[in-house]
Amino acid sequence: MARKGLLLILSSPSGAGKSTLTRMLMAWDATMRFSVSATTRAPRPGEADGREYFFRSRAEFETMVRDGQMLEHAEVFGNFYGTPRGPVEANMKDGCDTVFDIDWQGGQQIRNSALGRDVVSIFVLPPSIAELDRRLRTRAQDSDEVIAGRMAKSRDEISHWAEYDYVLVNRDLDATFEQLKTILQSERMRRDRQPGLSDFVRTLNKEFEAR
Ligand code: 5GP
Repeated sequence: MARKGLLLILSSPSGAGKSTLTRMLMAWDATMRFSVSATTRAPRPGEADGREYFFRSRAEFETMVRDGQMLEHAEVFGNFYGTPRGPVEANMKDGCDTVFDIDWQGGQQIRNSALGRDVVSIFVLPPSIAELDRRLRTRAQDSDEVIAGRMAKSRDEISHWAEYDYVLVNRDLDATFEQLKTILQSERMRRDRQPGLSDFVRTLNKEFEAR
């Protein structure tokens, strides 16, 4: 019997390294699947529909919500973002873990949903606000106004740190990635996530009896 896939929710303010960590995780374990969100925001240069996001109009997004296709959805920076339900349920059935790059609102909604027991949530903090500001600027894809808005949102995002199972301070990317892998490997070994254990222990008992 396959293990039920777990739902790894990663949240952080923009610029704390969450997207890079997500990419590293996907490259490390090819069985992990990234939850591609739908959004009403415009694609940034280099982003492709269906890879980073499903880019949808407001009307299309509202239809998806109305039809119950979204596991969660929220407004972030004046745009809508949401997690399509179908792929997540399929991943769980396939025994594959799903990684979510979503904000605290999405984290709360999935944690409080019927899938809450399968959630492992991790919050990534920046080492300092100066560093967060620097990372947002070197990314240089957004205007000053957008960056200022993101800094304000960062403070709000960080205020939700205590709702998460784990908190990582991303001082050094490689070290943080090691910690992330440790969390994932441990969570996969939780007793209730190893469906074959009862059968295995029954086999051990038979071996005892045969001695
Ligand atoms: P960005 O526009 O920079 O890609 O993402 C902005 C914020 O929206 C990030 O904090 C990201 O984690 C969050 N986000 C992305 N997809 C979703 C989603 O499906 N649901 C929610 N609640 N937040 C999302």
